[in-house]
Amino acid sequence: MPYLPEVKTEALRTLPGVKELLEAVADRPGTYLVGGAVRDLMLGFAQFDYDLMVEGDAGEVAELLADRIGGTVKRHPRFLTANFRSTDGSLSIDVASARTETYSEPGALPEVEPADLEHDLVRRDFTVNAMALAIWRERFGELFEFPDASADLLARVLRVTHDRSFIDDPTRLLRLLRYGARLGFTAEPHTEELARAAVEAGAPSTVSGGRIRDELLDLLAERSAVVGVESMYALGLDRALHPKFDADEYVVARATNEQVDGLRQELLLLALCSRAMDEPTLAEWLDHLKLPRRDADIVAEAVVRGATLLPELAASESNAAVDSLLRPLHAETIVFALALPGGDRETADLARLWLTERSGGKLEISGADLRDAGVGEGPIIGRALAETLEATLNGEISGREAQLSFALTQARSDV
Ligand code: ATP
Repeated sequence: MPYLPEVKTEALRTLPGVKELLEAVADRPGTYLVGGAVRDLMLGFAQFDYDLMVEGDAGEVAELLADRIGGTVKRHPRFLTANFRSTDGSLSIDVASARTETYSEPGALPEVEPADLEHDLVRRDFTVNAMALAIWRERFGELFEFPDASADLLARVLRVTHDRSFIDDPTRLLRLLRYGARLGFTAEPHTEELARAAVEAGAPSTVSGGRIRDELLDLLAERSAVVGVESMYALGLDRALHPKFDADEYVVARATNEQVDGLRQELLLLALCSRAMDEPTLAEWLDHLKLPRRDADIVAEAVVRGATLLPELAASESNAAVDSLLRPLHAETIVFALALPGGDRETADLARLWLTERSGGKLEISGADLRDAGVGEGPIIGRALAETLEATLNGEISGREAQLSFALTQARSDV
């Protein structure tokens, strides 16, 4: 197992909650920080989403954290994992026993067996996520990696750890696009070839809709979602997910260029890419994805009402008419309409003005503030901002400080 001693561990100690975490596991040999937290540490980014891998029983380490930091534990014995959440909600840590994973059939959930660190790194999606940092006292700061993982990180490439990866678990195709978009990394040529072959072989159809939903929404929530959408189209993954799902980078770019507070970007973009579907087809697709009712309503409203909204708005003859047309709608529906090609400029500006007045600059924080506080990319940010705007509009909170603390509490309880 390659051993690379040069990780900047001082940076680790400054991350939120990590001091307590390190103290709690100092005398527990075989405890590693793993996955995105190690990758981001090496890239110099902060995050507060920590995954631990332990040699031995994940539940035992989660209980140790609960005893020493204070909090609750949820065990998932079928997957050899456990989650620890601190009492104040500021720390949520997923702990997994080192394991192998075997797939009884493509796209199925894996069968897991306890294993050593080396096997655990092989079962991961990409080499840049297959690094483990020892965090117990005696070996603190030692890095263990899948061969060449840190070289891939330096070269900014995404490489699968074995050739069956996308067939075993086609959700990794979406993860490939997400990391490509977020980190600006590219798939190395063999990985790219394997991804194409998996799409051509129809691998995405072997995965349950709920698992596709999780990864698809995570991709669409990225700040640079447009890059992921472009790659999705280039790979043909959109049509492989649904023949009428169209990853149209132009409308997505137009939507992400609109500056609107408290939007659920991932739902807006899901709606835009689903806009060629008629109502029954859309309902079936959202049902297949097992989108929660409230979210499905936002998407369906955008597709059904968004297409005709600007002409209706153009025909409104008074401020009261504009207000009664737009007020019942989700902001996502209005931005959907703005992103469609061909709207007339004056009407679009009227819709933008209405949106600005609706929020009235009431949201004094942005996604960047949450990221600076360590919230990772993903739908969590949009959801937290949307809830914060709603609480502000309802008069429950006001001012930047209250909003930031409200949004962080929302984000942390959402992990
Ligand atoms: P980040 O985006 O920061 O990497 P994340 O929330 O996407 O975090 P998780 O989904 O929590 O990452 O996964 C944590 C780690 O588990 C990943 O870094 C990866 O090593 C591994 N992992 C997650 N999903 C898969 C998968 N489908 N196949 C293989 N490995 C996976």
